[in-house]
Amino acid sequence: MTAQRIDGLALSAQIRQQVAQRAQACAAAGHPPGLAVILVGDNPASQVYVRNKIKACEQTGIRSVLEQYGADLEEDALLQRIAALNADPGIHGILVQLPLPRHIDAHKVIEAIDPTKDVDGFHVASAGALMVGQPGFKPCTPYGCMKMLESIGLHDLRGKSAVVVGRSNIVGKPMALMLLAANATVTIAHSGTSDLSAVCRQADILVAAVGRENLITAEMVKPGAVVIDVGMNRNAAGKLCGDVDFEGVSEVAGWITPVPGGVGPMTIAMLLVNTLESCERAHARP
Ligand code: NDP
Repeated sequence: MTAQRIDGLALSAQIRQQVAQRAQACAAAGHPPGLAVILVGDNPASQVYVRNKIKACEQTGIRSVLEQYGADLEEDALLQRIAALNADPGIHGILVQLPLPRHIDAHKVIEAIDPTKDVDGFHVASAGALMVGQPGFKPCTPYGCMKMLESIGLHDLRGKSAVVVGRSNIVGKPMALMLLAANATVTIAHSGTSDLSAVCRQADILVAAVGRENLITAEMVKPGAVVIDVGMNRNAAGKLCGDVDFEGVSEVAGWITPVPGGVGPMTIAMLLVNTLESCERAHARP
């Protein structure tokens, strides 16, 4: 068997096109969607991520404002900037690129964002809303993974077994909650899981979100399973790769997402969706 690819580039292009149309309608009504992106310090990976997000905004008609600060920015100064952006009616989404320098408490900073502008979905109010099934912003990476499942006809996951490897607050945990909300029977695996292979082999849907090259190999995958690779790693040759042994697993899985060109572009697309929806909601409020 050779797995079919779920093409994150193509799917994200479709989503971006829809966002662009709706953003144009917002602009025509006098309120173009606006995203503020805050970057503190000079982490090279963060600079690339931020650049890609800003570029995606430009291409879809979302106004982006980049606020860039040196690594010595005081926490209080950052909190004041967030307060100002919270109060700015032209800004519908606020994104603070992580990681922040050590002297700044990232938790405090995220909690300072108005939950109605928390387009990354990292605020505890957003996490709580996801937990109890209330409306709120969903973290972009797992949200994008759910869209990938929907794109192959998997809307209701009743009767399916899903395994998420990784339990971070930004990927693993919200991923598990979204799969649960779609009626999958969900297992979360992590560094304390024994016999990871046996756990993974149960999965009709396997999501790898660890950050370790080739962690998921063919013998860990149930024949025909859907394998979503969230991981972003550099191999020995400096090439971007995921957590899944793509070649080997492609021989066993039914569907697989590539890296690059899989979850990464979907993450950015869902950031645009969240920002647009924030704008639409803000202007629908009396
Ligand atoms: P974290 O480092 O926060 O979490 C990694 C998780 O993997 C932890 O829960 C950890 O377990 C678990 N883990 C580590 N080693 C093992 C192991 N041997 N077996 C099973 N589980 C293990 O990472 P993130 O969730 O932030 O990111 C995960 C990956 O996804 C990274 O490669 C990151 O770059 C990528 N990523 C990609 C995005 C995209 O847009 N494509 C967006 C965000 C992240 P424990 O909790 O026990 O320590």
